[in-house]
Amino acid sequence: MRKAIYPGSFDPVTYGHIDIIERARRTFDHLIVSVAVNPHKTPLFTLAERMEMLQEVCCGMDNVTVDSFTGLLVRYAEQKDAQVIIRGLRAVSDFEYEFQMALMNRTIDPAIETVFMMTNSDYSFLSSSIVQEVARLGGPIQGLVTPTIERRLREKLNQ
Ligand code: ADP
Repeated sequence: MRKAIYPGSFDPVTYGHIDIIERARRTFDHLIVSVAVNPHKTPLFTLAERMEMLQEVCCGMDNVTVDSFTGLLVRYAEQKDAQVIIRGLRAVSDFEYEFQMALMNRTIDPAIETVFMMTNSDYSFLSSSIVQEVARLGGPIQGLVTPTIERRLREKLNQ
């Protein structure tokens, strides 16, 4: 069984992430979308909230599960018996950091392959941080995140 992990902050999940989830779940037998707990980042949404939003989005996708992890991604992939790490590419600017991470991960475990998937061009400008920023300034975010996540964002920013 070809199992892949799609790790990320998902703060919050956007249509760009959903596009990659759809592509990856068509390509692999099982996809684990996993929220990375990064002690160096201060997320807007808690881990539980980010997982809940992903669960809502992935509900009905029978070969997708939502999880979280701390520590080394490669070690987590080994524990989960996953052979592949999925990352999304939007623009050339993503490439350098992703290339470095992929080679580092390959050094740690050469058996785990990183696969890059290109986003739909409609979402190539889209990131969680830009969605947060526009929402914070009261701008329109429909079409960037699902209506439920749009509502959650507004509620969160009004707190
Ligand atoms: P991270 O902190 O790991 O970058 P993100 O949630 O920002 O977490 O992104 C997770 C993954 O999804 C990364 O591989 C990123 O390049 C990809 N990604 C984010 N936004 C998009 C998008 N609009 N289209 C395609 N891939 C995306």
